[in-house]
Amino acid sequence: MKTRIALIFLTFISVNVGAQTTKTENVFIITLDGYRWQELYTGADPALVKNEKYVSDPENLTDLFWKDDPEKRREVLMPFFWSTIATEGQLYGNRAYNNKVNCTNTMWFSYPGYNEILTGFSDDERIKSNAKINNPNTTVLEFVNKQPALKEKVAVFGSWDVFPFIINEKRSGVPVNAGFESAEGTGLSAREVFLNELQREIPGPWDEVRLDAFTHHYAWEYVKRKEPRLVYIGYGETDDFAHDGNYSAYLKSAHRTDQFIEQLWNWVQSNDHYKNKTTFIITTDHGRGTDPLDTWRSHGNEVRGSGEIWFAVIGPDTTGKGEIKKEGQYFQNQIAATVATFLKVKYTNEKKVGKQIDEVMDR
Ligand SMILES: [Zn+2]
Repeated sequence: MKTRIALIFLTFISVNVGAQTTKTENVFIITLDGYRWQELYTGADPALVKNEKYVSDPENLTDLFWKDDPEKRREVLMPFFWSTIATEGQLYGNRAYNNKVNCTNTMWFSYPGYNEILTGFSDDERIKSNAKINNPNTTVLEFVNKQPALKEKVAVFGSWDVFPFIINEKRSGVPVNAGFESAEGTGLSAREVFLNELQREIPGPWDEVRLDAFTHHYAWEYVKRKEPRLVYIGYGETDDFAHDGNYSAYLKSAHRTDQFIEQLWNWVQSNDHYKNKTTFIITTDHGRGTDPLDTWRSHGNEVRGSGEIWFAVIGPDTTGKGEIKKEGQYFQNQIAATVATFLKVKYTNEKKVGKQIDEVMDR
């Protein structure tokens, strides 16, 4: 009898140890297009912040974002990252500590980067332009949307009008509101109706990318109404202001996006459906150049350093280690499996996907 009880007990233990348990029930993937690790980790760039070639308001910009100490400088640029995420979450990709995150695709521009983040593999054979071609690959968003328990609990919001193609909205069935699309469907909130009006009335600076405030508020309103379990929000301004050579607008946009993420996080943590059950994974599609100086505006395989990226994670399964200051090598292709593991979904694809990042989850 004693033996039998012991055996039952042992069986029980082994089942529990083997189970992939996470407290996370919801994941928000958030990207800042082409936002450099250099600004994330050291704040405003000393070679650019007062440079009148790229900054029309150097006095104002230095008042806003300059401090001599790089750690203080990054705090004034992205206060939410360097208060809440730096204490409750984890940040990877500060190359000063040999902590590296890289794209495995060799293109180093947007569609290949988003394909890699969202599918878990690079596809340099087929994904080699930003053309509006429906992605032949299945993303983790589509995969999760096919799980019975998570069906129709996935949604995407993006500033760039290529997202419906990257996600393959038609085939995947994942709703995508991107570019200059309005909120659609029944039961729109008063704010969504107003956003639709404003979006028609406010001219944006670019043809293919809307201003991020629209993307942010469309996403937030939808989340309030529909309580999706997996959300992807792709902010876009940082890349376009950089291509424009407008360093002032690039920094101000990064600062605003930090505030957007803070708003979402604070709301999530005050909402019964999401509180202490939601993980944010924040990253970027590609880096940008640094040398020669003008390559900060650009990226792509001819721009050295533009395959260097970063990521940050905050949520109930992530120990608050803050900035990771030890040597390590991580890849863009690990995000998709990490997202799936948080949601307790075993993710597979036609091609081999990058391994989940075990360090960001206590299981
Ligand atoms: Zn770009």
